[in-house]
Amino acid sequence: MIKGIGASSGVSIGKAFIIKEDKPKVEKRKIENTTLEIDRFKSAIITAEEEIKAIVELTNKTLGEEEAEIFEAHLLILQDPEFLGAVELKINSEGVNAEFALEETINMFVSIFEDMGNEYMIERAADVKDVGGRIMNLLLGVKTIALGDIKEQCIIVKKDLTPSDTAQMNKEKVLGFVTGVGGRTSHSAIMARTLGIPAVVGVGLAIEEIKEGDLLVVHGDKGEVIINPEEEVLVEVKKLQAEILQEKTYLMTLKALETITLDGRKVELSGNIGNPEDAKQVLALGGQGVGLFRTEFLYMDNNSLPTEEQQFKAYKEALENMGGKGVIIRTLDIGGDKKLPYLPLKEELNPFLGYRALRLCLKEKDIFKTQLRALLRASVFGNLKIMFPMVSCVEEIRQVKGVLEEVKKELRKEGLGYKESIEIGIMIEIPSAAMISDLLIKEVDFFSIGTNDLIQYTIAVDRMNEEVSYLYNPLHPAVLRLIKLVIDNAHKAGKWVGMCGEMAGDLKAVPILIGIGLDEFSMNAPSILKAKELIRKVSYEGCKRIAEQVLLMATSEEIEEYLRETREGQI
Ligand code: PEP
Ligand code: MG
Repeated sequence: MIKGIGASSGVSIGKAFIIKEDKPKVEKRKIENTTLEIDRFKSAIITAEEEIKAIVELTNKTLGEEEAEIFEAHLLILQDPEFLGAVELKINSEGVNAEFALEETINMFVSIFEDMGNEYMIERAADVKDVGGRIMNLLLGVKTIALGDIKEQCIIVKKDLTPSDTAQMNKEKVLGFVTGVGGRTSHSAIMARTLGIPAVVGVGLAIEEIKEGDLLVVHGDKGEVIINPEEEVLVEVKKLQAEILQEKTYLMTLKALETITLDGRKVELSGNIGNPEDAKQVLALGGQGVGLFRTEFLYMDNNSLPTEEQQFKAYKEALENMGGKGVIIRTLDIGGDKKLPYLPLKEELNPFLGYRALRLCLKEKDIFKTQLRALLRASVFGNLKIMFPMVSCVEEIRQVKGVLEEVKKELRKEGLGYKESIEIGIMIEIPSAAMISDLLIKEVDFFSIGTNDLIQYTIAVDRMNEEVSYLYNPLHPAVLRLIKLVIDNAHKAGKWVGMCGEMAGDLKAVPILIGIGLDEFSMNAPSILKAKELIRKVSYEGCKRIAEQVLLMATSEEIEEYLRETREGQI
């Protein structure tokens, strides 16, 4: 058995499907017969062409013409005499192997395109990398695996599962994940919870113990992976699966009931989503709204920056899927562990403290304005609230509001409609923002506390790093004090506060948060009904007493101990 961090609850049994990510090293070799080498290159081109044509056909059928065009552009590169000629010339004139000539040519084209700096050419550079990588794999005999293409049910085992991997995944086939790196609030873990797929992350080097085809049990609550279990273990696990199913069935009976404490305090329970489709699951599992739409997944699930029209369609669909219930859409929060392959950013020593989210949007105004235009235009189709991530000071939100006004003016000029009464909010996920929440609240209609980042910045503990995950604790007294400060400041100003970080769905923390006065809890959809069950069993007065006690305690251990001893019936 290997141990990691339980990232998404539930238990699954399945065959290991290992995805290696080491990029094969390209060696430079001297070639005697360059004609034969060029033939080898040409035959790789023919196969790549066949592969891409098949993808175009499939994409046309499953996703639509617009998406298929991306791959049509790849075909054009394969037919481009300048690109092909450059590789052949290198093989011929320098007498080198095709792989080496190809790599040099890809690098040359990519750097020329990227240096041009405009959005269009950066997209072309990403196309060249993509197509070039495909030809390279064919030359080297490396098999490429797209997570969307997985045919049989399996458990994915990968050192680092990126958020874009999860975005592309065929959700029907993936029974669970095991990853080498990552913590509970890394984005692939969050995605696993949204999808309701059991996952264990951060198992470290132990991942090497898993071999292709091994039978695995992934225990998402305990953070354990059992490799090739004995028959008795399997029997136990199947029993547990049946119990989990029974609990789910029971929880569904609470769906239509109010989210209210025994003594009548109502709070709102919402869901976090990564695409418009997810909104349906939020509704199906009893969500009263969407508390966070992470729009960056829309960008990650695309081969280039999504156009205004693409975004407009997605936002409109999310609003319509929620049928008039509130939908908080967060503007692009890229950077940190969320990368866009087609928008290369400089390597940074501290990406989580670097050029990300709003910082990037305020600089790359075109990207930001495109998103704001799409959001405003979609606003007429439902109850939209716009939220901005990573605000660290008052100046930033003032700047944002300036851009928003500019965009509104443009739309009015073009005769395009939008709602005037859209609520505007910010995430409180940086300690500086929490400390000046009395000033920030004057600028906006609501706050949503992003504890995933707030915890990492407050305790100085990387949310992705399994080595320090023992320090990452939502019940750290500093975190609780900041949350109280934020809620008090907003309430003094007569405004409401939500929480969309993972802490909102943490059943240990829920009574404290109710006691401190949190108004809205937004979490992954599969957790909503469990939270409702708990909230309906406690009293607001009891929660206030608990919060008061907890806020006097010195360590998270003391707090946890106290919570363990305090039974639901006493709250
Ligand atoms: C957060 O930081 O708590 C949050 C909800 O945003 P993300 O997890 O996308 O950084
Ligand atoms: Mg965040």
